[in-house]
Amino acid sequence: MNTLSAKSIFILVIPAALLAATFWLLPRAAALPAGEQQLLPSLPYAAMALGMILSIHFHRGRAFFALLLLAGAYWTFRNHLPTLPAGITATVLFQALCILVPFNFALLALMRERGIITVAGRLRLVFLVLQALAVGWLSEPGHVAAQQFLGQRFFAGGLPGTLHLPQTALPVLGIAALVIASCACRRQSPIDSSLLGALLAFAVAANHLDIAHVTPVFMTAAAVILSFGILKDSYNMAFRDDLTGLPSRRALNEQLTWLGRHYAVAMVDVDNFKKFNDTYGHDVGDQVLRMVAGKLRSVGGSGRAFRYGGEEFTILFPRRTKDEVVAYLEELRCTIADYEMRLRGDDRPNSRREGMKRRTATLRSRGAVSVTVSIGVAESGGPLRRPADVVKAADQALYRAKNRGRNLVST
Ligand code: GH3
Ligand code: MG
Ligand code: MG
Repeated sequence: MNTLSAKSIFILVIPAALLAATFWLLPRAAALPAGEQQLLPSLPYAAMALGMILSIHFHRGRAFFALLLLAGAYWTFRNHLPTLPAGITATVLFQALCILVPFNFALLALMRERGIITVAGRLRLVFLVLQALAVGWLSEPGHVAAQQFLGQRFFAGGLPGTLHLPQTALPVLGIAALVIASCACRRQSPIDSSLLGALLAFAVAANHLDIAHVTPVFMTAAAVILSFGILKDSYNMAFRDDLTGLPSRRALNEQLTWLGRHYAVAMVDVDNFKKFNDTYGHDVGDQVLRMVAGKLRSVGGSGRAFRYGGEEFTILFPRRTKDEVVAYLEELRCTIADYEMRLRGDDRPNSRREGMKRRTATLRSRGAVSVTVSIGVAESGGPLRRPADVVKAADQALYRAKNRGRNLVST
């Protein structure tokens, strides 16, 4: 979970699709009848309110504060920046918003979830209020040095005609987007990826204050993207195992209900894991479970892995027979047995006596450990009609593998 892989960018797909849908909808919003056009400016407030209710309900403080920031920014756009800024006050407000929104979004991505009405939540609120006061102070005439700083220009020749964002905001926006994208991919967090989507939607909204319908449409999109992030994060909490990142047993039960008639099921159990934990400690045991989960995730034959519970895993192979998947499972078993997991410095025995004690386990070389797994496999059909029967048969096959000496695949 902590390494960046090509697969990890899939977390960005939903926000990207919602942004693409918003671009597609834009001309349709422009073509709305006049009566409906009048409702458009209120739409972002409704979407943000809905998002905030969701974030309160699901205790998602980071999304809540992001929505609060967007609401503040949109309110300022509506009341002080009806079009691209002209005059000192409007210009400073615009510049400050275009810098502070990306800056705060990046901070929210870097921070841990700390709730809303907690001490940390209240401190975040105070921090936002202080920023709003600072912006109000800055936008008064007379604070020339700060205003000149905000209005700096890096590109003497100017920017393309369609780019209206202040030049000082562009590096902040770019860095914030990179920081948030890396948090999202590393942590596989839907809230982080929705922060990125919402930030980009905000950037489009702020860039086009001069085109009446663009700002409300993209501010609405930002709120919708964050709401999706909240829902997906809560869904993941229920259906994904926290330690390994694999879908949980609840997800397995759900999948079993709409599996076709033909499929194979494998039960995988780590061998002598209790002893392993006793020897190396629970933390190293957790690392091993993550490693095993990683290998299971890339099993061949279109198998989908789940954490069944403890050190047991299930792999579903839709439309496959037992004979078809045995080779993939054999390959998986060997990959895990051959894998030497390096211990981090703080996991290594720190006294000679402890080191001696640990020698009894499968410590292959200095600071490396390995485990084996036993696998039982069964297929649907014959007397095994219900998915629960197939899972039970796979479990019985697993026990045969254990009885025959472990580190085996049994059918
Ligand atoms: P066998 O080869 O027969 O499967 O022996 P075993 O020791 O693996 O089986 P047993 O069911 O007796 O022990 C399973 C152990 O797995 C007990 C528990 O400490 C450990 N375990 C279960 N869940 C976790 C977990 O999330 N993290 C860690 N570190 N250990 C876990
Ligand atoms: Mg076991
Ligand atoms: Mg077990």
